[in-house]
Amino acid sequence: MKVAVIGGGASGIACAVSLKKQNKSVDVAVYEKMPRILKKILATGNGRCNITNVCSSEEYFRGSVGLLKTALSKYPPKENIRFFESMGLLLREEAQGRVYPVSGQASSVVNVLLSQCKSLNIELITDTEIKSIEKNENAFLLNGKIRADAVVISSGGSAAKSFGTDGGSFRLLKGLNIKIVPPVPALTGVIAEKFPKSLKGVRNICAVSLEENGKTLYTEKGEVQFNDYGVSGIPVMQLSGIAARSDFKNLFVRLDLLPDMDEASIFSFFADIKGSYPEKSAEELLQGTLPKALGNHLLLLCKIKKDSQLKNIPSDALKGLTALIKGWKIKITAVRGFEFAQTTSGGIDSDELYAQTLMSKKYRNLYVIGEAVNIDGLCGGHNLQWAWSSGRLCADSILKENNLVKDK
Ligand SMILES: Cc1cc2nc3c(=O)[nH]c(=O)nc-3n(C[C@H](O)[C@H](O)[C@H](O)COP(=O)(O)OP(=O)(O)OC[C@H]3O[C@@H](n4cnc5c(N)ncnc54)[C@H](O)[C@@H]3O)c2cc1C
Repeated sequence: MKVAVIGGGASGIACAVSLKKQNKSVDVAVYEKMPRILKKILATGNGRCNITNVCSSEEYFRGSVGLLKTALSKYPPKENIRFFESMGLLLREEAQGRVYPVSGQASSVVNVLLSQCKSLNIELITDTEIKSIEKNENAFLLNGKIRADAVVISSGGSAAKSFGTDGGSFRLLKGLNIKIVPPVPALTGVIAEKFPKSLKGVRNICAVSLEENGKTLYTEKGEVQFNDYGVSGIPVMQLSGIAARSDFKNLFVRLDLLPDMDEASIFSFFADIKGSYPEKSAEELLQGTLPKALGNHLLLLCKIKKDSQLKNIPSDALKGLTALIKGWKIKITAVRGFEFAQTTSGGIDSDELYAQTLMSKKYRNLYVIGEAVNIDGLCGGHNLQWAWSSGRLCADSILKENNLVKDK
């Protein structure tokens, strides 16, 4: 039995390793278009690889979440932690359930998987892009010449092209006449209308909401990063996949810049300062509460001169400033492109794939896993959790489908 795994990323390598660990007689070859496998892993978690999240469950994912069920219940985070520890990789849980290698280096994950591939005799064929898949009666033919009994599409999504992922999976699926949900960037920043360059580099803890036609689509609290194009940071990245599906006619991000205080308390704090220090300027009023550039921009929006003395600022103007701090509405015109995204929203849908096996409904022994599936996780290790779990479930399915399960 020959299995061709297309794409030597997280899900493809998890699948190959799991196949060979369970049955050494299966011939497994991984085809990778880049000069090396697992290149993206080196960049994950800011070079530390947030390998999974102990809290990972359906609620942390979007898209065809029905496809997650079997993979996550058979291979939950704890099971993937065991999988890696059994290969010699020590892991540690950090804040919010995020799990990282104890070494603090993503390269540990890559090295452990590479040495596992070597000891299991997994053929790693790099610099080889698979451009076509044909199916005849008994087997698949890749690029018109590579024969395989089973094929795994693990070639990722469209995000972060520099790691080899430029929508190759979707071209292969379209070539096989398999429907996909059109891919859009997810886990990226959003572009705002006429955003001030002076805010570039500012960071502030905010409660962030995504609103369309007056309806709130998503909210999250966390550190927002201000850029010259708009805003980013984890809470913004989390909503970007939803924003990307908008027509951008009436889409806003609303920022509560002081989320731990209510509007009345902020106003009374400002009124107290005004009472005690009437000679202070508006700029001085804000410098103790917000980053300076942010405070100055809010004063501009409220048409309050930054050098105005507090005694000359009417109460209504201070109320307006307070309201803006609690709900600055920013018009969004686009989401940043795939080159800046960490994942893809879209891909093969539940109409085309069995959730129990991740096998195509149209082609027996064709499997699709990882980011090529219409499933995208939130920040925090969920995307890799899906990659490992889907890869491992796929390996089990191939063995079962082809009567290759070995008795234990
Ligand atoms: C900067 C960055 C940081 C991230 N950090 C994290 C994190 O800390 N935690 C987390 O959970 N997720 C993180 N992610 C997301 C996570 O890395 C991906 O969701 C995950 O790697 C997807 O796994 P995959 O196997 O589906 O695809 P990938 O890991 O993307 O691998 C796909 C592979 O297929 C190859 N390929 C593509 N087309 C072909 C073809 N036609 N023929 C042959 N080979 C092909 C590609 O070169 C690539 O090597 C991050 C992503 C980025 C970009």
